Amino acid sequence: MRYVSTRGQAPDLSFEEAMLTGLARDGGLYVPAELPVMAQGDIAALAGLSYEEVAFRVMRPFIGDTFTDAEFHDIIVRAYAGFGHAARAPLKQLQPNHFLLELFHGPTLAFKDFAMQLIGQMFEAALKRRGDRVTIVGATSGDTGSAAMEAFRGLDAVDVFIMYPHGRVSDVQRRQMTTVAEANAHALAVTGDFDDCQARLKDMFNHFEFRDGVRLAGVNSINFARVLAQIVYYFTAAVSLGAPHRAISFCVPTGNFGDIFAGYLAKRMGLPIEKLVIATNQNDILHRAMSSGDYVTDGVTPSISPSMDIQVSSNFERALFDAYGRDGGAVAQLMDELKQGGGFHISQGALERLRDDFASGRASEAETSAMIARALPEMGELLCPHSAIGVHVAQDHLGPTPMVTLATAHPAKFPDAVEAATGIRPALPARMADLFDRPERVTRVDNDLAAIEALITGEVFA
Ligand SMILES: *Cc1c(COP(=O)(O)O)cnc(C)c1O
Repeated sequence: MRYVSTRGQAPDLSFEEAMLTGLARDGGLYVPAELPVMAQGDIAALAGLSYEEVAFRVMRPFIGDTFTDAEFHDIIVRAYAGFGHAARAPLKQLQPNHFLLELFHGPTLAFKDFAMQLIGQMFEAALKRRGDRVTIVGATSGDTGSAAMEAFRGLDAVDVFIMYPHGRVSDVQRRQMTTVAEANAHALAVTGDFDDCQARLKDMFNHFEFRDGVRLAGVNSINFARVLAQIVYYFTAAVSLGAPHRAISFCVPTGNFGDIFAGYLAKRMGLPIEKLVIATNQNDILHRAMSSGDYVTDGVTPSISPSMDIQVSSNFERALFDAYGRDGGAVAQLMDELKQGGGFHISQGALERLRDDFASGRASEAETSAMIARALPEMGELLCPHSAIGVHVAQDHLGPTPMVTLATAHPAKFPDAVEAATGIRPALPARMADLFDRPERVTRVDNDLAAIEALITGEVFA
């Protein structure tokens, strides 16, 4: 399988190259040149299998000859061994025909662990074979960074640097990054917001001298391997609710569009998904874009769901690429307008194609808190703010098709917001009960490309 850039000007790559590279050299994102389609019988045969076995069958066609079947099987088993639930992604019922997919049983309590644990194992296996090493730099609104530090800590062939917006992540998120003791893992507190961190990361990838010098690799959801790992739980959830014999809808708390884009790929692969509902917080650029066709940035307002405090939604580019008939030139032009003028207009044809697959909604801060408060007595669930946004938005889309809302983080990761809404302070699971006693290690840095690059170069070549 070959991977192509959404902007049409970078060389095609194998899975291994695309995984180790991250962002394409034309600024685009890699996507498979064509998607493997699963026969309905093969989807039906997933019923009753372990998460790991479903993962193997769903992802195998994407990885080409990067790993043998035996290697890939071992990678998957190691990736999910540290999860605190035998089902990995258990499904709970909330309301008639409305289900919650719990994606927070991994080591850092957010769905990011599904992809990051797998990527850590895939990087290690591929780099060891090549006798190579890389520098991973990530930008995080909180959860990607903690998941990446956890997945890459102590690996031989990797240095990992995570930029997070100083003062804008929860205490639990920050401590999950700053208390990692291994010398190859570095937390960088950047003076700015998440979009600043993400912009500096893109700048580093476009600065080829730095990029090649440190052998830069990316694990943000611009890395296709991240998206790939997330396709799996759409299959396990849908099949356990009767797919492929009946259609299922999903409601996904969305920021960078990676998680919901994985659902879109599952649909393209043959999983009968009726609607994918984009659920945003007050930073609602995606909801506004789907409603009006105008994708216009207007700054980030910090919220109680910080992992969704995003205005430039990177993976939306992948959806646009398909909506524009895989015309890389058209996508490159939109992205140029975004960079120059802060927005673009989605053509009528592309918008209609997007609306065939996606619906959207938003939750205000008050609605989010109210949903957290209601969910406990009415549904028996203590929800994190991100998951509560999903459950809130899903209310407008319930009907005869079963709805699955993705619970993207554990409530204990955002204890202040949960306590404010319910009066209950959710406890951390026993395995991380000492998080607040561990020493912190973090470097403050200005939102300045040269300063950040100098810091990274200094550590890598120390
Ligand atoms: C990352 C994250 C999201 C948003 O996911 P995207 O793939 O960026 O859309 C939502 N909720 C939580 C808890 C997250 O960590």
